[in-house]
Amino acid sequence: MKIICIGRNYAKHAKEMNSEAPTEPIFFLKPDTALLKDPVFYYPDFTKDLHYECEIVVRINRVGKHIEEQFAHKYYNQIGLGIDFTARDIQKAAKEKGLPWEKAKAFDNSAVLSPKWIDKANLDMGSITFSLQKNEEVVQSGNSQEMLFTIDRLIAYISQFITLKVGDLIYTGTPEGVGPIQIGDKLSGFIGEEKMFQLSVK
Ligand code: ZN
Repeated sequence: MKIICIGRNYAKHAKEMNSEAPTEPIFFLKPDTALLKDPVFYYPDFTKDLHYECEIVVRINRVGKHIEEQFAHKYYNQIGLGIDFTARDIQKAAKEKGLPWEKAKAFDNSAVLSPKWIDKANLDMGSITFSLQKNEEVVQSGNSQEMLFTIDRLIAYISQFITLKVGDLIYTGTPEGVGPIQIGDKLSGFIGEEKMFQLSVK
């Protein structure tokens, strides 16, 4: 299983990062060891600026390569929600030197995944609203219609380069409002009104 994450898929988030909106999808990988198994996240000691990035997650359910966009919808059935935890200080240093992001993005437990999934038949895929609360205050809210590249477009694009396998996860990018967490924080993620995950930071 691999985790594929999309960078800058929302124009306002690209802007808050002082980055340009991309003309084609940007992706990077996290290893399977990045998946957080517990509802508890231990703040790692290698960063002083750990940020949440709440994202819609797609789970691939068929093997595919060179998938055409018009058929991409056949490669997933369910939508989940996750956080792409990012050590922003490490990412900033890497960006300045033109180095890869793995140290900032791919560390153990950096991929929060909801234990719940929603069948895509029960969602309006063009307009999925989602949000993240930190200590019961909404800090991020987004809608899939703001994505620069749709889920189907992302699947078509990624599969030109990488074979997608059953169980692979695609984190589809974060809307604006990313920010830091502290020990003691409680995070919860929602699709519409439905609570998808809850997490405490220790
Ligand atoms: Zn992200």
